Amino acid sequence: MNTPDHYAVFGHPINHSKSPRIHRLFAEQTQQNISYDAQDIPPESFKNAIKSFFSSGGKGLNCTVPLKELAWQQADSLSERAQLSKAVNTLALQGNGSILGDNTDGLGLVADLTINHSITLSNSRILILGAGGASRGIIAPLMEKLPKELVIANRTVDKAITLGIEFSQVGDITGCSYEETKNKQFDLIINATSASLTGDLPPLADNLLAPNGCCYDLAYGNLPTAFVKWGLSHGAEKSLDGLGMLVEQAAEAFYIWRGIRPETRKIIDLLNSER
Ligand code: NDP
Repeated sequence: MNTPDHYAVFGHPINHSKSPRIHRLFAEQTQQNISYDAQDIPPESFKNAIKSFFSSGGKGLNCTVPLKELAWQQADSLSERAQLSKAVNTLALQGNGSILGDNTDGLGLVADLTINHSITLSNSRILILGAGGASRGIIAPLMEKLPKELVIANRTVDKAITLGIEFSQVGDITGCSYEETKNKQFDLIINATSASLTGDLPPLADNLLAPNGCCYDLAYGNLPTAFVKWGLSHGAEKSLDGLGMLVEQAAEAFYIWRGIRPETRKIIDLLNSER
């Protein structure tokens, strides 16, 4: 058998990542000869780590917390969606040796919300918590679904306001503090902070979720995250974590690398059955 093509996910921390398992399942399903591992790369080592990965024969990388904005700076060229989001979760070696940066997070989230969970985005009031790399990737694809309102709240308020201004080309987006969301209600609240990774929760008002509203945490784990629990205890019709998004964004990355789109439903079901 030929040597497998090498792929990896870089992040810090990375031991929680299910990406290696997902890509190995994709490879098995589509009969692709690849290897995929997870590497703990702190931001200060990221530039050198990318160089050494690709110069030693690596074909593609996923980048996760807190590296997506750095990955955007390091790519030689960018897809349109990566250009807009200024965050990259997928790097792909091109035929001419250059590195293409892309962002599949938004597509993954929208597919999981709308196809896997039948959540309606058009005409709904959406609140995104957090203004980091993940938020950057999901804003434009959510706006394409024509919500009634999109608000971004962040601990560092300036970052939320900047995102609202930066993305004004895709529609009217408000950036604000958590305090300013207090007297509002939303049909969908998306947690794109990394607070769940440490079991924390942003400060959320008790009446923030509209009746029949849904909660979605981009983070995922074997147990419900703090935000998924918050949704359940605040009357959410659905309170979901980001496992489905993870599989959907990974499928798009796999397609960019291999030209084959894996079937995601079976893999999501399998991973859910293992929790
Ligand atoms: P970043 O490090 O770029 O951004 C982190 C964000 O979280 C910032 O807005 C930060 O606020 C906020 N934050 C961190 N801790 C807290 C806290 N205790 N209270 C309130 N806000 C906090 O991370 P990413 O954007 O790349 O990732 C965010 C999350 O999304 C992670 O959990 C990641 O695992 C998940 N994710 C999941 C995906 C999936 O496929 N399911 C895909 C992409 C991401 P501040 O600006 O004030 O520091």
